Amino acid sequence: MSPRLSSTLLRWYRQHGRDLPWRQTRDPYRILVSEIMLQQTQVSRVMIFYKRWLTQFPTWESLAEATNGQVIMVWSGLGYNRRSLVLRDIAKHIIAHGVPSTPEAWEKIKGVGPYTAAAICAFALHQRTLPIDTNIRRVLGRVLFGIPYPTLKMDKKIVQSADFVLPKRGAFYDVPQALFDLATSTCTKVPACASCPLKAICKSAPRFLSGHVRIPKIMIKKAKESRHRNKPYPDRIYRGKILKFVREHPETFLKTIGPMIDPHFDLSLDQAWIKAMIVRLQKEGLIALKHHRLFLPT
Ligand code: SF4
Repeated sequence: MSPRLSSTLLRWYRQHGRDLPWRQTRDPYRILVSEIMLQQTQVSRVMIFYKRWLTQFPTWESLAEATNGQVIMVWSGLGYNRRSLVLRDIAKHIIAHGVPSTPEAWEKIKGVGPYTAAAICAFALHQRTLPIDTNIRRVLGRVLFGIPYPTLKMDKKIVQSADFVLPKRGAFYDVPQALFDLATSTCTKVPACASCPLKAICKSAPRFLSGHVRIPKIMIKKAKESRHRNKPYPDRIYRGKILKFVREHPETFLKTIGPMIDPHFDLSLDQAWIKAMIVRLQKEGLIALKHHRLFLPT
């Protein structure tokens, strides 16, 4: 990125960037917590749960010692509950092996992908790494390569441009944060190029401003989720309901849970489906079954 581009972006960020709690710290633990919570969850929701989590588990040590049941309780309401166990298992790894110092070493930990590894190294360790998520892909694909709707295929090119994108000195670690905020406020699906600080240097701006871009109806094809016969929701939602019920009513009898989570439960048609979902929750470590009763695992 030309110095003009990074300095324009950072100047805009100083004025318009969001003041988020995980941007006030360089603690790798706190940054990892925020990154895992932000996966598939909106910032406004994460803000609430982030604070609660850090009150309960303020350090790697406190989290590493927590049981499955304890982390599932504190995660309650955030969804995609597996993430709570992933986070606890990462804490266990860190306690046993120390905090990694490179993206490559972070990526060797189960549950840490390339994006999370690069984000921790950028925000906690202030390394010149560029985490690429859907937001950063969208902005850089547009600005640098003139692709209005960049796909995953662009990531290789974007990674190769990291040395160019991140200034060599100054607050280079704020560039990804600035890109996130620009992506969510201005460079959205239908971008507001007229009010964008980068419009003079963005390769896509002329096409958007002249109205010569066809806006795709669907950006990302959602993976097909499994759904039982005529149920209105995918199984994922019912698994969440089962877990919520067990959290609130420990020692529930297995055979009574069906009608509790589904008002249209039919014993002959749905009992095997419920059992299969409970087996999956057990395998994932989210639920325990003892003497036909359901509990949170200890
Ligand atoms: S000028 Fe338009 S397309 Fe380019 S970065 Fe700004 S909002 Fe996005």
